[in-house]
Parts: sequence; structure tokens; C-alpha cells
Amino acid sequence: MQDKIFDCVILGGGPAGLSAALYLKRANVGCAIVDKSALGGTPVNYCEIENYLGLGKISGFELCEKFEGHVDNFDVQKFPFEEIENVDLISPIKKIKTKESEFLARTVIIATGAKPKKLNIKGENENVGRGVSYCAVCDGAFYKDKTVCTVGGGNSALEEALYLTKFAKKVYIIHRRDKFRADDIVQKRVLENKKIELLLNYIPLEIIAKDKVEKIKLQNTQTLKTIEYKVDGIFPYIGLEPNVELFSGQIEEDKNGFILTDSTMKTNIDGVYAIGDVRNTPLRQVITAVSDGAVAGVEVSKYLMNIKETVRN
Ligand code: NAP
Repeated sequence: MQDKIFDCVILGGGPAGLSAALYLKRANVGCAIVDKSALGGTPVNYCEIENYLGLGKISGFELCEKFEGHVDNFDVQKFPFEEIENVDLISPIKKIKTKESEFLARTVIIATGAKPKKLNIKGENENVGRGVSYCAVCDGAFYKDKTVCTVGGGNSALEEALYLTKFAKKVYIIHRRDKFRADDIVQKRVLENKKIELLLNYIPLEIIAKDKVEKIKLQNTQTLKTIEYKVDGIFPYIGLEPNVELFSGQIEEDKNGFILTDSTMKTNIDGVYAIGDVRNTPLRQVITAVSDGAVAGVEVSKYLMNIKETVRN
């Protein structure tokens, strides 16, 4: 157990959590970041980010490295690779228990992010690592001169399909409608890329594999006819679900499980804030996560000042 009470413990060391730490430390608030993995968060696996203002094009890995390097100048206590087992957010002194230790905190900022949604079809779980992957940056290079597909019509499915064309000889994008929700500039690049073929109005029904993925079975949403395509790799990008399992029953969530906050990132629990992809934000981007972190950092420091004054009076 850590023998001190932290003013703030940040759960999750992605862009949102790192930004909150920076703002807290600049306000002279002692804080710790706890993360089950290395710090950096999901964007570490983004092939390229080109909408973070001022930086042009940068890989997700490089951007996250810059974030962590910046925070390191401010002596934040970092606890990577500490998996949180349970939390008590309700008590005035919050408790965060990991396998290795227990943290006590006056305030908590939840920045645990979101994970990729699964297709939930036959053959998916059994073939993760044998042709099914949720990370093109991690696994794309295994598909040199092979045929792969992404599933989805958002920024992730289209951007990662473009990335996969660096290796694969052919990339299908399978989408359940005939309109994409990805940014126009990304759609244009996809349409111009000769290695990409669009399979529109199709939903995946089954992944067919022996030792590894061989085919994907699709159903046309208009005709209901099924068809099988030979693919070596399948990369589902059909949206995100929040990492909230630890907080369920304690915190208010929207109907999709994202944590409800007000514009100051405050949740329904006194002293508990939520930022980045885990909250009910209208936009899930690195730049909005960083902005949430800044707001929460300032709000937590004001909150702590208030409770300390109340104790003194
Ligand atoms: P998303 O924007 O939520 O798009 C999910 C896509 O998957 C949609 O096209 C959806 O179809 C489809 N889909 C959902 N459930 C499905 C199912 N069961 N079967 C088949 N298709 C299904 O998700 P995302 O692309 O993963 O992005 C997540 C968030 O990160 C978004 O806010 C996105 O803007 C952000 N992001 C930003 C960038 C960037 O700015 N560079 C890069 C990546 C991600 P419908 O369109 O029919 O609903």
C-alpha cells in the first residue's frame, strides 16, 4: 500500500490522463498515474495522426512519446503495468486497489479510454492472432502481398485500410451501408487507392478458418444473399466501447456505457472526474482527449482548494 494520500490519482495514462497530470502538476497538485500497460494509450497504435493541430503528420507512437516526455519534466509519479482490480469511488478518501498495491486519493480522474467493439460472429474470438486483428499497426507487416479486409465505415476502418495497402496486395473495406462516416479527405484517399476495393451493403456473418483465417462470409443487406471472400487477415473497426467495468454500479453512464460528465468533466460522484474516450463526449479524438485532461486538471485543483479551505474553516 502507498503510505500517502494522493491529492489526485489518474486512472489511465493515455493522452487524456497525461494532459490532466500536466495541468495538475502546474497547479502544484500531487498526482499519480496508474495504467495496466505502458503509458501512451490507444493512439500508440494509430498509424498516422494528421489532425493534431500544429504537428502536421505524426505517428501515434511518436505523438504519445512526446506527451509522456513532456509530463516527465514535471515529476509525475507513474505506475505503469499496474492492473487495477477494484476501486471505491464513493468514500471521501477514494481507494484504488491494484495487484501490487493500494492507492488512496482525495480525487480520481478516470481516463481509462475505450476498446474496439467485436463483430460477435462465429470464428472471431477463436482466430484472434491467427488472422483476426484489431491493430493494423501491430500486425499489418505480417500481410505482405496478402489479401486483407477492414470492417466498418468510420475513420478507423478507412485509415487503417490505407495503412494496410503498404503491405497487402489487396484490401477490401466491408461496410454495412453505402455511405461512410469517415472524414471526406480520408474517403477521397480511399477512392483513389487502386489496392482498395469497397464491399458496400455487406455485413460479416462468419469467419472461416482451419489453422488460420481463410475466408469471410458476408451477407448483402439488400438482397440477403451470402457470399464468401478469400482473405488472409480481418481487421474489424466497428467502433468503441468504454472501459468502465471497474466502476459499474458506482458511476452514472449513458445507454452505451460511456460515463456521464458535465462540461467540467465532473461525474455524479463528488471528487470523481472522467475524461477522454471513456466519457460521453461528442468527439473522440486525441485533441479532444487532451482538452478534457486540461479542463479536469484545472477543475480538480479548484475542488481541492475548496475542500482544504472548508477543513480549515
Ligand atoms: P465509428 O466512427 O464509430 O464507426 C464505426 C463504423 O462501424 C460505422 O461505420 C458503423 O456503421 C460500423 N459498424 C458499427 N457496428 C457494426 C456492426 N455490428 N457490424 C458492421 N459494421 C458496424 O468508429 P471508429 O472508426 O472505430 O472510430 C472511433 C472514434 O475514434 C470515432 O469518434 C472516430 O472519429 C475516432 N477516430 C478518429 C480518427 C482521426 O481523427 N484521425 C482516427 C480513428 C478514429 P454505420 O456507419 O452504419 O453506423
